[in-house]
Amino acid sequence: MSGNRAGGSAKQAAAAPGTLVERKLQHLGLRQPSDFVVHLPIRYEDETQVVPISSAYPGAPAQVEGEIVRSEVQLRPRRQLVAVLDDGTGALTLRWLNFYPSQQKQVAAGKRVRVRGDVRSGFGGHEMVHPKVTVTGTALPDALTPIYPTTDGLSQASLRKAIDQALAVADLSDTLPQEICERYGLMSFVEAIRVLHHPPASISYHQLIERGHPAWTRIKFDELLAQQLSLAAARAARRSQRAHPLDGGQGRLTKALLASLPFSLTAAQQRVVTEISHDLTRSFPMHRLLQGDVGSGKTIVAAFAAAQAISSNSQVAIMAPTEILAEQHFQKLVGWLEPLGVTVAWLTGSLASKARKAAAALIESGQAQLIIGTQALIQDKVNFANLGLVILDEQHRFGVGQRLELSRKGEDSLGSQAFIPHHLSMSATPIPRTLAMTFFADLDVSVIDELPPGRSPVLTKLVADSRRDEVLGHVIAEVRQGRQAYWVCPLVEESEALQLQTAVDTHTWLEQALPDVRVGLIHGRLAAAEKQQVMQAFRTGQLDLLVATTVIEVGVDVPNASLMIIEHAERFGLAQLHQLRGRVGRGIQQSVCVLMYQRPLSAVARQRLRAMYETADGFEIARRDLEQRGPGEFLGVRQSGQELLRFASIETDAQIVEQAQEAARELRDRYPQHVHAHLQRWMRGKQDFLRS
Ligand code: ADP
Ligand code: MG
Repeated sequence: MSGNRAGGSAKQAAAAPGTLVERKLQHLGLRQPSDFVVHLPIRYEDETQVVPISSAYPGAPAQVEGEIVRSEVQLRPRRQLVAVLDDGTGALTLRWLNFYPSQQKQVAAGKRVRVRGDVRSGFGGHEMVHPKVTVTGTALPDALTPIYPTTDGLSQASLRKAIDQALAVADLSDTLPQEICERYGLMSFVEAIRVLHHPPASISYHQLIERGHPAWTRIKFDELLAQQLSLAAARAARRSQRAHPLDGGQGRLTKALLASLPFSLTAAQQRVVTEISHDLTRSFPMHRLLQGDVGSGKTIVAAFAAAQAISSNSQVAIMAPTEILAEQHFQKLVGWLEPLGVTVAWLTGSLASKARKAAAALIESGQAQLIIGTQALIQDKVNFANLGLVILDEQHRFGVGQRLELSRKGEDSLGSQAFIPHHLSMSATPIPRTLAMTFFADLDVSVIDELPPGRSPVLTKLVADSRRDEVLGHVIAEVRQGRQAYWVCPLVEESEALQLQTAVDTHTWLEQALPDVRVGLIHGRLAAAEKQQVMQAFRTGQLDLLVATTVIEVGVDVPNASLMIIEHAERFGLAQLHQLRGRVGRGIQQSVCVLMYQRPLSAVARQRLRAMYETADGFEIARRDLEQRGPGEFLGVRQSGQELLRFASIETDAQIVEQAQEAARELRDRYPQHVHAHLQRWMRGKQDFLRS
């Protein structure tokens, strides 16, 4: 026994002066008292009542007390401590598979104890495994017991103690003016915090757990408000940055470009061209997202922005996520702008080092006015002479870091003056309204909500894999009419090699099955030159059918292709399917997308396929996608390890989002000192993420 005590104090000595606990707390981001204040419970346990054993039911937690009538260490089926507790209304078996001698003593026969745990039904009636044991007679708590998010090796008890200590010293004053609290019917901060850390026994347990209680509402409001405020601060910071105003001279280039096009811009395209053009003339950097469904004609809008920048003597960089897409942009933009005297350069990772050096030299000397490429553009070796506009196509495919880096290029190129290039991102993946409001307040959005004339929606067919032969018939019919088709091979997530093999096999099989059809193959492992060759052959009609992996997923534009076949469509995500389908329906002829699937379908896959069948509207698809995947994954920020929101949910708290946005404006206008206090409380150490 004395040995036991010595062991205990040795442990304590090692931990002194609380460093271990402190480190664990820091790991949870808990440093200052204010951090602890908003470290809120994930759930609660009701220890305020003791119930008769006869009314404790399996499947629910219970707290009971009584006398230990039997206690023994059993050796079969494995060593365990088994005790039986009786309170006069019934008996309950207590079981420990691991135990210390001290625990054994605590539940020796004849002892009176209070135990708490989940009740389950065992062989000999109801039992609890590893219940929490306390002595009888101590007063019952009058508040529910909070259970906090914790980390390995940090007990609830230590965490609770640390939080209570912090609560005693922390500043709990309200960061919202009385007026705002009243308008939105908000509970005071101090009351909300008290309730959530120590909910009174009388509280509605359901409201508390479901986060519908007014205390939670206040916390969600605060969290969303903090986010709105910091986004507004980011916006203000951007407005104080400097950029070169790009007024386009007399509009010589843009006018010439317009005159040379074989089509006229849609009303929607004209509108967004004007919006962007206006932004470019400002002396602070543009930060604009151009959204338009697949095939809506974003590339030509980018060309107009580029033309305006170039005739203002600035360089323009266009970055695409894949080589195939970058190459396609290169061809298009050369076609549009070279006849007007613009020098276009091309830079991707696969360029031979000599060509790469030549390109870099053109860029550095300022001779290249428009530079098109892949991620290679953001590599350190490339220096721009005077980068004024950065365009990112399919921006959702780039990581947050990459998006920032290309902007920084421009900052560097102008040295100490720190002029920032204007920034245009383009995406076919629309960001639903609440999401945009919550996370992109510092992003202006232009939307192309109209397709070029003469397009009819793609007809989508769901076809079981067993009906392959019919699908082959489709291909033959389409090719006979002089049209082209894509055959997308299944995604094999586990193995890239396997995916490649599948593509090769499919190609061989299709060549045999369709002897009159010219079949090509493209995948990520082909050398860049080969990829270019295959795409070129398809674009110019020397191939009828292109077997492809998802390398063709984004951006590829071959208007004569009118049939898209996707094998194992059930393996693809919704956004991906929509993108793939968007490769057809780009000409005037009716296009068809065949989604082949293999049974059995999971519920999620079934939902996805149904969504694809039911709607062609990119916004609706995005809404459903968000519903299925949640915001973090949707925005591709989950990898960054940052929680987007800890308490509020943009799906269910849309109303609070709106209120918070309104309140943020008012606070910034009328209560600047409250803004500061509020951000201090809620946003410490989070600013970086929000700025991107
Ligand atoms: P996305 O928005 O998917 O990037 P693209 O820019 O690739 O779309 O354009 C799709 C196709 O529509 C291209 O072939 C493009 O030349 C054509 N296009 C764009 N705008 C118009 C228009 N106003 N009228 C007719 N065709 C257009
Ligand atoms: Mg595009």
